[in-house]
Amino acid sequence: LIVGREISQAVGVRGEAFGAGRKYSLAIQRAGGVPLILPPLDLSPTQVHEAVAGVDAIVLHGGGDIDPQHYGQSPTSDELYGINPRHDAAELAVVRAALESERPLLAICRGLQILNVALGGSLVQHMGLPGHREEFHPVDLVPGCRTAVAMGSEHPTRCHSFHHQAIDRLGSSLRIVGRHTDGTIEAVETTGDAWVVGVQWHPEDSADTDPQQQGLFDELVRRA
Ligand code: MN
Repeated sequence: LIVGREISQAVGVRGEAFGAGRKYSLAIQRAGGVPLILPPLDLSPTQVHEAVAGVDAIVLHGGGDIDPQHYGQSPTSDELYGINPRHDAAELAVVRAALESERPLLAICRGLQILNVALGGSLVQHMGLPGHREEFHPVDLVPGCRTAVAMGSEHPTRCHSFHHQAIDRLGSSLRIVGRHTDGTIEAVETTGDAWVVGVQWHPEDSADTDPQQQGLFDELVRRA
């Protein structure tokens, strides 16, 4: 299950639409899974639980910034963009339901940030560091962590990075398993039994040609 987005313009649809990035669905399909998209509607807690109970795994995908109020802050940066209260509400509800029901979860970019905020963590509102905007960079992973096992490497060299925020205070029951050489947190996992992985980069961008990146989706579907 991919939590979708509101889209202002779509081909073949009259008016506004719901959707999700095509690359995520293709990566899930290559892994042998069937992607489904959940519109970011104002669902009741019961409806969210039913949606999560009806699927085998969850993907949280990239997107705009989370409203800082969700981690107890006011906006402190002019660089904040793309805040959408319906996206925040839908994804926070789905990630909480997914954690409660111990569904396998792959949280990508904004998804990692949603995971962290849902567990009480906070974000750096604007990093202001070079090297993370539309660039491939390496990530150092903790040996034996779920992310390294899925990718078949403790030092994936080409992680496509497009983010200006990062984890600041770590959420409860999370552990840091990957960092950039500049110290930026790039990967986290939960300490429980469920396969819950968050990566700050975009594995879907190069998964069609890079088995390390596709490995994250393959492992998610294996766990599903
Ligand atoms: Mn990065």
